[in-house]
Formats: sequence, structure tokens, C-alpha cells
Amino acid sequence: MDRLRFSTTSAEQTQSFAERLAHLLEPGAVLLLEGDLGAGKTTFTQGLAKGLGVKRNVNSPTFTIIKEYKGRLPLYHMDVYRLTDADEDLGFDEYFYGEGVCVVEWAHLIEQQLPEHYLKIVISHKGENDREIALEPKGERYVSLSKELVK
Ligand code: ADP
Ligand code: MG
Repeated sequence: MDRLRFSTTSAEQTQSFAERLAHLLEPGAVLLLEGDLGAGKTTFTQGLAKGLGVKRNVNSPTFTIIKEYKGRLPLYHMDVYRLTDADEDLGFDEYFYGEGVCVVEWAHLIEQQLPEHYLKIVISHKGENDREIALEPKGERYVSLSKELVK
């Protein structure tokens, strides 16, 4: 199994899917979010944050690159869209190999700096409120996680 697909018909549905995923996450989990502008990466992250028990409102970290939130596990929300130098190391490893959950929007832009194993989540626009969420796990841990999610 290398790819799993889900369809959602509202932002709330995407968020509840993410919320369900959040309950299965362990320290050091790395989630890569891909998809065009407006696909729903930040919306997905909001659901994930809720599932992790984050109280603060999660918004797009466009100008800060990395935002931290306190929850059941710390949430590190990264949006590397505006990183001008793909090789610039903002101390990513501290986050990737830390005790929290990392969510990286536009992760392919820092391809060289990504860890070996992760759960890639690709969100595609199918209509005004229709989205397809495709899971592409890399590494045994994320394959089991994905299987658990579709049970
Ligand atoms: P991105 O971070 O990928 O640029 P955002 O999450 O900021 O995208 O924006 C997605 C927009 O699409 C939001 O306004 C959200 O309410 C809307 N939306 C509509 N339907 C969906 C859906 N099924 N899943 C996620 N977002 C949706
Ligand atoms: Mg975003």
C-alpha cells in the first residue's frame, strides 16, 4: 500500500478527518502537506490542532515559517512557501526529530532537508467545496498509521 484516497465535501469534513488522524499521532510524527494555494492545508492543520488539544487558533504561518502550539503533544506548524533559499536550515532537525508533531506546508520546497520517513498528505481541489485527500506514507510507522486511519 502506498496511496490512500479520501473525499471531503466541506472544510469541516477535512478538519474532522485531520482530527481523527491527530489521535493516532506519536511524538516525532512528521506530516507533509502538499496542494495548491487554497487546497486546504491550513484548514487540515486546524483540525489536526484541535485533535491534539491545541486551544489557540491556528492560522497560516506565512511570515514566520514555523509556529509552535501547546497541545497533548507540541504542534510545530511550518509553511515553507516563502523560504527564499531551499537550503537554508532553520533548525528543522530539532523539530523533525523532536517530541512534537511537525506539519509542513509546501514540504517539497525543502526536499533536501526532509527526514527519511513521513506521512505525505496531498490535498486536491475537485470543486468549490470538494477535495481529495491522498495519503502517501513513507516508512513502516506511517504505513500502519494510514491503515489504522482507514479501519
Ligand atoms: P492552503 O493552506 O492549502 O492554501 P487553506 O486551508 O488556507 O488552504 O484554504 C482552504 C479554503 O478552502 C478555506 O477557505 C476552506 O474553508 C475552503 N474549503 C472548502 N471546502 C473545503 C474542503 N473540503 N476541505 C478543506 N478546505 C475547504
Ligand atoms: Mg496554508
